[in-house]
Amino acid sequence: MTASENDLPVVAFHPFRWGDPAHATHLPTAAKETLAAFGVKQPAPALEPGAVTLPDVALDAATLAEFAAVVGEEHVSSAHEARLAHTRGWSTPDLLKLRSGDASDAPDAVLYPASHDEVVTLLQLCGRLGVAVVPYSGGTSVVGGLAPAREGFAGVVALDLKRLDAVVSVDAVSRTATLQAGMRGPAVEAALGAEGFTLGHFPQSYEGASIGGYAAARSAGQSSAGYGRFDEMVVGLTLATPRGTVVLGTAPKSAAGPDLRQLVLGSEGTLGVITSVTVRVRPRPEVRIFESWRFPDFETGAAALRRLVQDGPEPTVLRLSDEAETGINLADPSAMFGGGPGGCLAVTGYEGSAADVEARRADATAVLREAGGELLGPEGGEAWRQGRYRAPYLRDPLLDEGVLIETLETVTFWSNLHALRAAVTTALTDALTAQGTPPLVLCHISHLYETGASLYFTVACAQTDDPVAQWHLAKSAANAAIRASGAAISHHHGVGTDHAATYADEIGPLAVDALRAVKRALDPAGVLNPGVLIENLPLRADAAVTE
Ligand SMILES: Cc1cc2nc3c(=O)[nH]c(=O)nc-3n(C[C@H](O)[C@H](O)[C@H](O)COP(=O)(O)OP(=O)(O)OC[C@H]3O[C@@H](n4cnc5c(N)ncnc54)[C@H](O)[C@@H]3O)c2cc1C
Repeated sequence: MTASENDLPVVAFHPFRWGDPAHATHLPTAAKETLAAFGVKQPAPALEPGAVTLPDVALDAATLAEFAAVVGEEHVSSAHEARLAHTRGWSTPDLLKLRSGDASDAPDAVLYPASHDEVVTLLQLCGRLGVAVVPYSGGTSVVGGLAPAREGFAGVVALDLKRLDAVVSVDAVSRTATLQAGMRGPAVEAALGAEGFTLGHFPQSYEGASIGGYAAARSAGQSSAGYGRFDEMVVGLTLATPRGTVVLGTAPKSAAGPDLRQLVLGSEGTLGVITSVTVRVRPRPEVRIFESWRFPDFETGAAALRRLVQDGPEPTVLRLSDEAETGINLADPSAMFGGGPGGCLAVTGYEGSAADVEARRADATAVLREAGGELLGPEGGEAWRQGRYRAPYLRDPLLDEGVLIETLETVTFWSNLHALRAAVTTALTDALTAQGTPPLVLCHISHLYETGASLYFTVACAQTDDPVAQWHLAKSAANAAIRASGAAISHHHGVGTDHAATYADEIGPLAVDALRAVKRALDPAGVLNPGVLIENLPLRADAAVTE
């Protein structure tokens, strides 16, 4: 197969500007004119990273020396750049805070272990010293997963796994690969591609996110229709905890007890540090065909896509934009605000062997035509494929121009999908309009299952003087609408700190207690990501410290 948009280099990011600096983008003139019509008037330039002041380092030299004794002095850093680069994640509030100089959540130090054993030793040390630990893979959390509570702790360290970046093994017969947690998406595809395989996991954060974070936050890639969600790919994993090591997944499937792999997947660094994951891999596709479709409206398009996922054949990529998103064309920044073709745009993609692609495409085309779709051809589909990692680059210039732009997602059963979309759209619109900043609310179906689908919203409006508080009100309204609609608070971004209260409400107090009990067993001192996933998980102050 020839080089593709998935064959990207692994590059160092700016502390708060997305992606490969070489791909930084500017807003087209048409976009600026449209922004003025939305009341966006004041540019909101960011501080330079060097001008952001960090809190004093709370850990003393003796503590840092203990960490250095495990990983080596050069792999412990309290330097400004290292702490700033590990301050929170990539949600818009995270960026707004750093852009305005608020780095109050900065870790006191960053530790870079090189092996599973070093991770275990560091966790034991943190338990003994009462230092909170933030497991850090790619750092692309958008739900506050990297900003734990620090009350009751001597300090906070980020445990950056980037030195755990190797392919441990590939089993070509079983089609599995064991990958270390710090491998970023492009490195995984390059390594597996050399063996003739693909992981097939392509989230929009592909350039930044890593294996450990995919597993810890149960990520879903844009080709999930064909390759599955990340949690469906995992057949085994190794977890480092303050009390030792847990190895799970001695066979692909088992009837021996509950599937504890699923307890670790989605645990967001609260139970331990995932140091490696064994995933199923697929042969690198021979052929890839992407096409776009137009449906007269969202309901017709959703019904057509539902037919494919319920009765087949299923494409590898399947998504449907609503009328508003179709008009904006977020997938192609160069055409942004240039207007789409009207109706609702869907993208179908097929990857596999030539015969498989041809057969699935022919059958799916017949289904979609019969369901009211008009095939527009490969141009739009290819533009989407090639631009799929570019949309996040737009956020920085939009924030610079004074636009508040953020995304959120949820998932429900098919029978509830349209009511959920309406409820979230209304909640966001009302909450932002009440603040004098009527928004643009765009939505697409991003991941589909036989029984339901996820909705992904993009919201844009003018920033007020306090955009963090402005977004907080809007997001709280959206969370309440999601709960009231009976949908899940997240399909793939996870819980972090932002969704912890809503998640607790969603699963109920008994389930929360069960999670707390597991946490106590694995992390008795409560040092791992306190306050992430479940609010008020036992902090050191009220936890029995036993190792
Ligand atoms: C622009 C953009 C686009 C995005 N698009 C998608 C998308 O398409 N699909 C999707 O699913 N998500 C998406 N996300 C969200 C994010 O990329 C995912 O949640 C991803 O799985 C996080 O991976 P990471 O390596 O960056 O994890 P991190 O941000 O490093 O960590 C995520 C959480 O897991 C914990 N953690 C990290 N590593 C480990 C480990 N090894 N063991 C235990 N806990 C750990 C962290 O403490 C944190 O709580 C997007 C984010 C951005 C900024």
